[in-house]
Amino acid sequence: MSKIVNGETLLIVDDDRSTRGLVRGVLSRQGYTVIEAADGSEAVAQFQRQHPVLILMDVMMPVMDGFTACAAIRELENTDSTAIIMLTADDDLGAIDRAFDVGATDFILKPINWSLLTQRIRYALRACHLNRALRQSHIRETSARRLSKLVFWEWNLTTDTLCWLDQLEHVFHVSLPLPQTMIDFLGLVHADDRARVTRSLDFIRQDGTVLDVEVRLQFDSKEHLVRLLGERGTELREHNYIFGVLQDVTDLRRTEALVDYLALHDELTDLPNRRLFMRHINTALQQLNPDASVLVIAWIDLTRFHRHNEALGDELGNLLLRHFAGRLCHLVVAPDAVARVGGDEFALLVRAHEHQEAINRLESLLIRLRQPYQLGTREVILGCSAGLAIAPDNGTDAQQLLAQAQQAQRFARSQALPMAQATHHLYEHDSTHEALEFERQLHRALERDEFFLVYQPQMALRSGKIIGVEALLRWKHPQFGTVSPIKFIPLLEDLGLIGAVGDWVLQTAMQQSAAWAAAGLQLRVGINLSPRQFIDDSLLQRLTELLTMTRANVSNIELEITESLAMHNPDQAIALLHALREQGFKIAIDDFGIGHSSLEYLLRFPIDTIKIDRAFVTHITRTVQDRAIVRSVTVLGQTLGLSVIAEGVETLRQCDFLEALEVNEIQGYLIGKPMAPEAIEHLLQDFTRPGMERDQP
Ligand code: C2E
Ligand code: CA
Ligand code: CA
Repeated sequence: MSKIVNGETLLIVDDDRSTRGLVRGVLSRQGYTVIEAADGSEAVAQFQRQHPVLILMDVMMPVMDGFTACAAIRELENTDSTAIIMLTADDDLGAIDRAFDVGATDFILKPINWSLLTQRIRYALRACHLNRALRQSHIRETSARRLSKLVFWEWNLTTDTLCWLDQLEHVFHVSLPLPQTMIDFLGLVHADDRARVTRSLDFIRQDGTVLDVEVRLQFDSKEHLVRLLGERGTELREHNYIFGVLQDVTDLRRTEALVDYLALHDELTDLPNRRLFMRHINTALQQLNPDASVLVIAWIDLTRFHRHNEALGDELGNLLLRHFAGRLCHLVVAPDAVARVGGDEFALLVRAHEHQEAINRLESLLIRLRQPYQLGTREVILGCSAGLAIAPDNGTDAQQLLAQAQQAQRFARSQALPMAQATHHLYEHDSTHEALEFERQLHRALERDEFFLVYQPQMALRSGKIIGVEALLRWKHPQFGTVSPIKFIPLLEDLGLIGAVGDWVLQTAMQQSAAWAAAGLQLRVGINLSPRQFIDDSLLQRLTELLTMTRANVSNIELEITESLAMHNPDQAIALLHALREQGFKIAIDDFGIGHSSLEYLLRFPIDTIKIDRAFVTHITRTVQDRAIVRSVTVLGQTLGLSVIAEGVETLRQCDFLEALEVNEIQGYLIGKPMAPEAIEHLLQDFTRPGMERDQP
């Protein structure tokens, strides 16, 4: 005999003790756990305590009869999940009706037929299990539908009636009258989507097999994005029905929009990326009226950003980029667009009525981008260069316009211009070619021995004697002529050539210094160090090697580093400068005054000389502020035993002012332009301090 048994708990309720004993004996032998109750109220208590799966309940009992107990138990349950079998006397037909009325599952006549009893119990339990499984799957299905925001519907094609298996409100959280026909449903659809949905519905109504459309539904003054899925009934008699679901995908699409956003924006700056920018250009091109407007694509590149990044570290470097991006955004008004198109490259899209307007706007924008950036206590100046391509002049293809802007930017950089514009010619051959050719030639300049050094004299104001020179690099190219370092030094840095060229400069200048010393000329030689050279770990070692190699006297060598470079990583700079001075090198801070750093702070650096930037010298005769700055520098210099040298002195009047402010030395065209070593030697032979001739007859 098969048994559905795993110790399930059955409750036998009877006031007759011997009946209870018998039932218990029979059922426990079959593996059930049997508990007992002597009347209805005890049965209810047992039910609450033990949760039996099945109850055998006598009808006639004292205290509380079986009907009342059955009803009470049904009352306690929220679903009829317990099987209740009533034990009724065989002559009482009315009792059977009453048993079903109060919720009994089945009945059995007394006296009990034992084999019938076990059969009925098994049957009742099986039904019970099925019921529970069904109910659970229904619960799961409901919650699945609720979670996935699904509503089932049936559409009768013959009558056009719609039947909803759920309330729409469990998806949309608003109660709305359910549309009873497809026509009613279409009334909820956004007007712009209606034609499209109607087409899809017509298709499935005629011969299509599946329906899958996304539409906007409007109700409750809100817009919901829903997906409507359906298929034709497969059974013969269901052929005229479409069964389907409606799913609210508003949130899903919102998430997708976010994913989309992430795919189209730069993570660091939140600016659109190149992909999105291309879309913007395309849209703008479509809207462009070539007779009345122009579209400018600008490519902006940060000048030697890697330098800042190396000096600041990645974290502050990123912050700097964000600051830059933020300012860029701030300066551009929609629908004009901004994008980050590379590590330190940005792009702009500007609409204007005509060329000059666009160029003026970009120029003023670039000026504002070059204003200092505040990073905590530091102030950083970011240079940038821009290239422009203008539609329709330079074409109307988004990809090509952007490429032209980029090439124009490269050209601008190579020519040390803040901005360059692509022209048909530029793009096709000329200038871009020229820029690339320039780069290519620069690559070969060192091996072709095209670099040379010129030396600019420096005079001590007290003695009126030439006491030093600054070595300045020149590139003499067979076609380009002599090129200014302002044009090619940034490019050398970008191309990664500055290390090799810088090394050549050091060696050549040291050789020259040794040669002068051997000829009895004691001259200090100032050598410019590029930031790349300065942060190179091997600098100290290389300088020591070069000293040995060239036999230069270290006390004649002065290394010039820029103020901003020293400020980028002050602690590291201080350590290196100490080491260099221990070797005997002199240190000068170049271009002092334009980096805005605090004087007191800077003077913690172990240095010998401060070179006041030409910008301050130029207006010294006219501007009180410039004089005040120069004066405070000289006072501090005197206190700390530093030498202060003013650069770019061109006139006697400037010289007089500087002398009055107690500047120690001057350098500039007034004393001499940068010149060949032989010219320096000649100058030394017959040098008289400028202005002396005034007093002479
Ligand atoms: P700098 O170090 O500030 O050099 C001074 C610049 O001012 C030189 O320009 C010089 O010719 C110019 N100058 C000197 N006196 C006067 C004057 O009275 N009036 C005017 N208007 N200008 C004057 P140069 O030679 O074109 O060098 C430009 C910059 O290129 C230098 O500025 C320096 O930063 C860099 N540079 C030059 N040679 C080297 C080098 O060998 N290595 C590195 N890393 N940089 C160099
Ligand atoms: Ca210098
Ligand atoms: Ca300088």
